Amino acid sequence: MSRKKIIAGNWKMNMTPSQAVELVNTLKPLVETEDADVVFCVPAIDIIPVIEAAKGSNIQVGAENMYYEDKGAYTGEISPAMLTDVGVKYVVLGHSERREYFAETNETVNKKMLKAFEYGITPIMCCGESLEQREQGVTMDFIRQQVKVGFLNVTVEQAKTAVIAYEPIWAIGTGKTATTEQAQEVCKAIRECIAEIYDEATAEAIRIQYGGSVNAVTAPELFAQPDIDGGLVGGAALKPDFGKIVNWK
Ligand code: PEP
Repeated sequence: MSRKKIIAGNWKMNMTPSQAVELVNTLKPLVETEDADVVFCVPAIDIIPVIEAAKGSNIQVGAENMYYEDKGAYTGEISPAMLTDVGVKYVVLGHSERREYFAETNETVNKKMLKAFEYGITPIMCCGESLEQREQGVTMDFIRQQVKVGFLNVTVEQAKTAVIAYEPIWAIGTGKTATTEQAQEVCKAIRECIAEIYDEATAEAIRIQYGGSVNAVTAPELFAQPDIDGGLVGGAALKPDFGKIVNWK
């Protein structure tokens, strides 16, 4: 089975709404492709202007986070219904920055995964080890736990549509990309973990991205790996280089 690549930008806490519109207008002609799904995951306040600016293009819009309740007294949070109401298709869940600074756990990520599926939003669930964990030789133990807990009670049909982003923490925003071999090895092991939880067909269907200082130079080799189905891109998603990453072939 051939999986369609998915290349997503994670804007993090960058771009005011007016800057966001300008960036979309710059990138729109550069990210045209039929070979990959192209997703801009943007700050909540930028979602509506970015959706407007991206109209008529192949850009799909995602959120960077979402809460796991339908609505209510959760000051400052964004609900899944708010996202779907304006046309959001994807949500990044469990990014390492949210795990580190905002007390995100495997359990809250799991609740958000279930809620996202309930609303028809495709989760891009992040996982990845720290440098210390890599040096201790526990990379796969740690990631397997993130994946297994993250997917608790997710049905086989839902899992087939999910996206997992493997992002070694030591490679995020550091300019250090994992080697192609390291990235492929972990993405393959994640796929095997999905096969254990579900079955081979689900493992074949699920899309697994690599993230961590991906740029126009490193993307082609990374994306050519058999178990790497695209990338989650931070810094380079804010530059015209993103067009080259999307058109990596
Ligand atoms: C990210 O934020 O998910 C990321 C991979 O960032 P960068 O590409 O800047 O390392």
